[in-house]
Amino acid sequence: MTVELICVGTELLLGNIVNTNAAFISEKCAMLGLSMYYQSVVGDNPGRLEEMVKTAMKRSDIIILSGGLGPTQDDLTKETVAKVMGKKLVEDQKARQEIQLFLERRGRTITENNWKQALVPEGCQVLYNVNGTAPGLIVKDDNTCVILLPGPPNELVPMFEEQVYPYLHKLQPEIICSKMIKLCGIGESSAETKILDLVEAQTNPTVAPYAKTGEVHLRITAKAESETAAYKLMEPVEEVLRQRFGTLIYTDDPQVTLEMAIYELLKANNLTVTTAESCTGGLVAGRLINVPGISEYLKEGYITYSNEAKQKFLGVPADILQKYGAVSPQTAEAMAKGGAKAAEVDVCIAVTGIAGPDGGSLEKPVGLVYMSCYCLGKVYTEKNQYTGSRSKIREYAVASALTLLRQAILDGMCFEN
Ligand code: ATP
Repeated sequence: MTVELICVGTELLLGNIVNTNAAFISEKCAMLGLSMYYQSVVGDNPGRLEEMVKTAMKRSDIIILSGGLGPTQDDLTKETVAKVMGKKLVEDQKARQEIQLFLERRGRTITENNWKQALVPEGCQVLYNVNGTAPGLIVKDDNTCVILLPGPPNELVPMFEEQVYPYLHKLQPEIICSKMIKLCGIGESSAETKILDLVEAQTNPTVAPYAKTGEVHLRITAKAESETAAYKLMEPVEEVLRQRFGTLIYTDDPQVTLEMAIYELLKANNLTVTTAESCTGGLVAGRLINVPGISEYLKEGYITYSNEAKQKFLGVPADILQKYGAVSPQTAEAMAKGGAKAAEVDVCIAVTGIAGPDGGSLEKPVGLVYMSCYCLGKVYTEKNQYTGSRSKIREYAVASALTLLRQAILDGMCFEN
């Protein structure tokens, strides 16, 4: 079944409010397995709204409208839909009582235009509103089901969850659920190549890769009659992904970030950590400090932008800086070892590179970043070449540094055992 969304309100067109109703309704419809091909926003203009409703009725099975159900003259959604569908507006007694009760309880004076909200298209299903005065409406004709919802999210969200979702679920008994497997340390094209056979053969569930900065997320989506059945269908695919990607998978929890996964590793292995950053200037430490509780394991970090700072705080030997330069694997390694020693910790992640836009050369171009991780006596060093703006290069460098930090800890743990 296809569903189409029309959000009504000049405020939306002017950018005065963000269309959170659209995000909410789209997500729910996707979960319900309804295909949404069109979404529109229209101002409080009856002519344009009428055109839009007529167009939507030609191409979609279900039309959801949000907003414009208020008591004032410019709230015209219900009147317009009734006109297009050839329905008369009649007073709904229960809606009238509910409006009266709602306003009386709040000590608000009832004005004549309040009763406008008790008018409903004949033969429709009324969705009573416990959080406001505008009832929602389900209006049907032979081919289309039109659902009208009040604009304020505190009214629309509960009404959708409690009344519209179960109604739509009955129309479309299969729901869609998805699961995200998050990977780091692999590019999007390599990840896609590894799952090409699954992507090509897929029907239900499906697998799709999404590129994120320095990460790849694989979304598994299944259609079934219940959430439990959908997750059951996903299990064998997830198992294959686990076999193919192994420790590159850092989580299957949508709430867990890479830094949170690292925090869990530090905690599980009781490891202390520090950072020694040049071009990322504290961003790696910043990502780690996003995680509450990290202070147990990260006590200090170093921003050593100049050569002098690298010598002063990390003890990088002057001859290494002179011979190989600040952006070199040798310097990165010395920073990692020096950082771990200075902070007296088990692990140190170090980053040094050229973020640009100036400072590059043929031999060492802009975007060249070396990173090194010291972990329990072993050192892991990596060379990366990024492209893009200064901020993009730094953002990618942070993601790679966190990935290297995670891999070094995992490797260190295998090594220990
Ligand atoms: P009311 O009964 O309060 O008049 P209504 O159904 O007429 O509601 P609107 O007048 O269109 O709805 O919008 C009322 C308020 O609801 C807006 O000022 C805005 O704060 C919020 N709102 C409306 N549409 C949206 C939307 N699509 N996303 C987020 N908020 C919205």
